[in-house]
Amino acid sequence: MTASGGTISTRRTLRDGLGRDLHYLRLSVTDRCNFRCVYCLPQGCPKAAAGQPLSLGEIGRLASAFAGLGFWKVRLTGGEPTLRPDICDVVRRVAGTPGIRRVGLTTNGYRLAAMAAELREAGLKSLNVSLDSLDPERFHEITGSPHLDRIVAGIEAALAAGIPSVKVNVVLLRGMDDRELGRFLAWTRKESLTVRFIELMETGDNGALFRRARLPAAEMRRKLESLGWTKLPRDAGDGPATSYGHPGHAGRAGLISAYSSGFCDSCNRLRVSSTGDLRLCLFGDQMISLRPLLHGDAGRAELMDLIERSVTRKPQAHGLAAGRCGPTANLATTGG
Ligand code: SAM
Repeated sequence: MTASGGTISTRRTLRDGLGRDLHYLRLSVTDRCNFRCVYCLPQGCPKAAAGQPLSLGEIGRLASAFAGLGFWKVRLTGGEPTLRPDICDVVRRVAGTPGIRRVGLTTNGYRLAAMAAELREAGLKSLNVSLDSLDPERFHEITGSPHLDRIVAGIEAALAAGIPSVKVNVVLLRGMDDRELGRFLAWTRKESLTVRFIELMETGDNGALFRRARLPAAEMRRKLESLGWTKLPRDAGDGPATSYGHPGHAGRAGLISAYSSGFCDSCNRLRVSSTGDLRLCLFGDQMISLRPLLHGDAGRAELMDLIERSVTRKPQAHGLAAGRCGPTANLATTGG
């Protein structure tokens, strides 16, 4: 049954024109953010929102249509998703959608400590917390927030609440020295926590910073390997991240290198913006408005058909290595 009582018709796996199985939806639930990360929204988010974000009902219908197309994994992102007062209800609604097996959330962690237990109870299976430095001053410089302690407390609360997968996402920026790397990796020694290092991506707004501050993933790979971390086999359903393990650590490390060749070969996702636009690629220029079909359950079959027809146009790869970031001004608008 759908959230509103209709019958679910299960459809085949969705495959794009290049034969990639798509089963992972990244859904932005707001374009509002309370941080000012230097590479994303250094001036804070624009005063006016891009538009009214999808309502709980619209999100439920969207999740049901994607589930009907074989999608089983949904990650809620933004903007900052925890700024939505109904974020736990959103998690509950998506997690309760037949066919959806894994709901994740990406957050800056600022509000996490107070809501970790409720998110877990709502059915959250995976939490990614963005944290680019464990040094309070550097954290402040990067995010505009002096509250590193709140983020660390949030991660500790998520682990204590028993959220099954907790990952810390660290954007690689020049200035991240070996001491900082050591602090992040030390965290994985006892905790079954994954720390993932993400290569900075160029967007329409951050070109100058990108050229100045980019720290290539290859440098981090060499460092990890020199410290005894080894590449782990990929799990079914894994995206483009590479995981590393170490005999002395309970947790893992990971590397997301958007500039490496073949990065998009394992792309398994589609994105929907906070106002209901389907994006076939984070850096692509196609936007297909799904919102007109989200007003009621009657639009479900048409919505599924529209998504199915659209994915034939999913690009083979982004053009980042050639300096093309499409119309993506920053990742907050689309949902990073
Ligand atoms: N506010 C939430 C957060 O902080 O995690 C979710 C949205 S944020 C856009 C999602 C992730 O994208 C964060 O880990 C952030 O560091 C990352 N991000 C934003 N801009 C980026 C860029 N240009 N290159 C690489 N990662 C970026």
